[in-house]
Amino acid sequence: MSAPQSWVTSANVSSTQFGLSNLPIGSFAAEGRGRRLGLRIGEEVIDLFRAAEGGVFSSLDAKIRDALTKPVLNDLLALGETAWDQAWNHFAAILSSDNATLRDHHERASIMMPQWGVSMRLPSDVGDYTDFYASLHHATNVGTMFRPDNPLLPNWKHLPIAYHGRSSSLVPTGTSVRRPCGQRKPTDAPPVFGPSQSMDHELEMGFLIGPGNRLGDRLTPEQASKHIFGFVLVNDWSARDIQSWEYQPLGPFLGKNFATTVGGWVVPMRSLQNARCAAPRRGNGDPQLLPYLAWDGDFGLNIAVSLHIQSAKMRELTIAPMCVSECNVSELFWTPSQMVAHHTSGGCPLRPGDLLASGTISGPTKESRGCMLERTWRGTEPIALPDGTERKFLLDGDEVFLSAHAQGRDGSRIGFGECRGVITPAVE
Ligand code: CA
Repeated sequence: MSAPQSWVTSANVSSTQFGLSNLPIGSFAAEGRGRRLGLRIGEEVIDLFRAAEGGVFSSLDAKIRDALTKPVLNDLLALGETAWDQAWNHFAAILSSDNATLRDHHERASIMMPQWGVSMRLPSDVGDYTDFYASLHHATNVGTMFRPDNPLLPNWKHLPIAYHGRSSSLVPTGTSVRRPCGQRKPTDAPPVFGPSQSMDHELEMGFLIGPGNRLGDRLTPEQASKHIFGFVLVNDWSARDIQSWEYQPLGPFLGKNFATTVGGWVVPMRSLQNARCAAPRRGNGDPQLLPYLAWDGDFGLNIAVSLHIQSAKMRELTIAPMCVSECNVSELFWTPSQMVAHHTSGGCPLRPGDLLASGTISGPTKESRGCMLERTWRGTEPIALPDGTERKFLLDGDEVFLSAHAQGRDGSRIGFGECRGVITPAVE
């Protein structure tokens, strides 16, 4: 079967990741417009504020229409699944080839603009950001390096481990990331303060929370699945030397909170229906899930993710970024619904626009490891770059690119756009 057609011709080409069955949303800025919500279709972006002003959404409920005129997603996220369905059914309808509402609109030229003309911002005002540690391969690899006899701690298969991150240092794709200074402990020498010598990336998938829960309430995994609006790429930059010295006994702190890059486009859960796959299977000997984390309708997501690196010299020589990691979100041991259910299980409220992320996604092979720490096995197996240099960790000038895609309906591809950042030198 062929994918449904749009009057936006770039949405119909077979190579597009932004056809009618995707329609991701984001927050952008463009010259002369300030900050707006935008809907991506093919190589175009619809300015939802101007579309609303132009009457394109007059058949939608007033509260949905109003939420679409805001610069960030929070109000729309607060409305919940029924409103999201109404909005996206309408988006798909007005972009279909036979619909004239926007196609023949007298202000179409100002409502739509080419995607290269916009600069993506953070999709929501993130009140709180939580980062999980949900990949069994990642947790086992990292554990093996630091505790060879006891790689996986006793709690790991009983509950999805996480820590509270900082929303203040979330940055949109394209923002350069300054190498942090911090305290680290060289072997056999006292601690020193200075630029991190072990800058790393983490290939992660994040998701944005919809209505959420009230203080004291908790969500079952089934309820939780209705509070996940959509998915977005996340690079959780990490300074491994700062992290390894500071993390005990309370966990990640300054080694993690200097910057986290968030992708520009949020792919709604409804566009990922075709990517749903069986929830990760628990092996013989794995503990039984406690009832508050168990749901027989639970599911994983078949989303291919990859990470590329381009050094400053590669840019200079116009050598394309090199693929360093390729993996799949379906490799995660814990599902997004379980992460939300666990997060709310003590009554802590999640609020519209909150960002949760999976933790580094790693698979069973070396090429599927999502961070340098694992990929170079703590620097002992450096990666050769095509510019003739090698990497144990990231150097200044290195740019890291994340990408992801899933299979959509009718053979279409669902893309997540870019999530990139370049390392700039520390200020000493
Ligand atoms: Ca992380």
